[in-house]
Amino acid sequence: MLAAYFDVPGGPENLYVKEVTKPIPKEGEVLIRVEASALNRADLLQRRGKYNPPPGASDIIGLEAAGTVVGFGPGADGRWKIGDHVMALLSGGGNAQYVTVPVGHLMPAPPGMSATDAAAVPEAWLTSFQLLHFVGKVQKGETVLIHAGASGVGTAAVQLCRLAGAIPIVTAGSAEKLEMAKKLGAAAGFNYREEDFGTKCLEFTNNVGVDIILDCIGATHWEKNLQCLNMDGRWVLYGLMGSGEINGDLLSKLLWKRGSILGSLLRSRSSKYKTELVKAFTDQALPHFTPGGPIHLKPIVDSVYPLQKISDAHQRMEENKNTGKIILQMPC
Ligand code: NAP
Repeated sequence: MLAAYFDVPGGPENLYVKEVTKPIPKEGEVLIRVEASALNRADLLQRRGKYNPPPGASDIIGLEAAGTVVGFGPGADGRWKIGDHVMALLSGGGNAQYVTVPVGHLMPAPPGMSATDAAAVPEAWLTSFQLLHFVGKVQKGETVLIHAGASGVGTAAVQLCRLAGAIPIVTAGSAEKLEMAKKLGAAAGFNYREEDFGTKCLEFTNNVGVDIILDCIGATHWEKNLQCLNMDGRWVLYGLMGSGEINGDLLSKLLWKRGSILGSLLRSRSSKYKTELVKAFTDQALPHFTPGGPIHLKPIVDSVYPLQKISDAHQRMEENKNTGKIILQMPC
């Protein structure tokens, strides 16, 4: 089969497509013919040699895929049948024509949804769902500040906040990105490059502050985060795009707010945890991807690249140009 590869860590130009051995499903695994996969920031880090796959995971990049079921390992049949359209949460291996996945990490693709849209769902939406419900324990009526509001994870988080009856506020780096987040349901949006989002969030909440912060930025935003965090607020840290090195009195400011910092990484979670997350998302959120109800969730696709153009796709993400997900289409 064909798969994305790099021989030495480095820039997007190091990526190429090569013929590799097709995987064989092991005990409890399903074999998927991948129609589309999507990019994640973790892929960029892995390509640079800064994020090795967890033990046992494929060394091919790609944390998600949409495609069809084509085979079963021992003990994995029964729940899915050959030809089912599925979406898969992966620990790696998605940027290839075939991938194996534990049976519990599969979800049915919403009826009528294209593979390129379905590939935008697993990693960003399961991450957002996990951060809001499993980690942040969001409650109806709470205010949630979402940094990188036009990112893959951010566009999902805004919509899932609305589904939960919470009030999303976003930050982003351009007027266009803020506009997109507002279209998806953000009650307010602030350009972190031009505005003091800490003060703006306090104004928006009548000086109460936000109940939850979904933070994938880290150091550059920490003071403003604590400025606008409500008493007893939850600061959910899940990325460090703005660095992890902090100087200053973070601990005393956190203590005065009686705040909690909750760190979360999805990729390194146990298979059992991921199975529970996939089940909760499938039961509670997936039905809302089918139009008709009061809230219609939709994956936001920024662009679609053929696998052979994977370097260009990585370049686009590295330059922060995308709003929503960048998709890779596999050769037939
Ligand atoms: P994405 O779609 O590529 O969007 C990332 C956006 O973040 C960029 O387009 C940029 O938008 C903004 N950004 C980048 N550097 C920034 C900085 N230094 N300060 C402020 N904003 C910055 O990303 P994604 O795939 O959705 O991932 C978003 C984050 O979630 C990443 O940090 C990723 O590592 C993390 N993540 C974590 C987990 C987990 O389990 N912990 C799982 C998935 C993803 P602007 O133009 O608005 O600046």
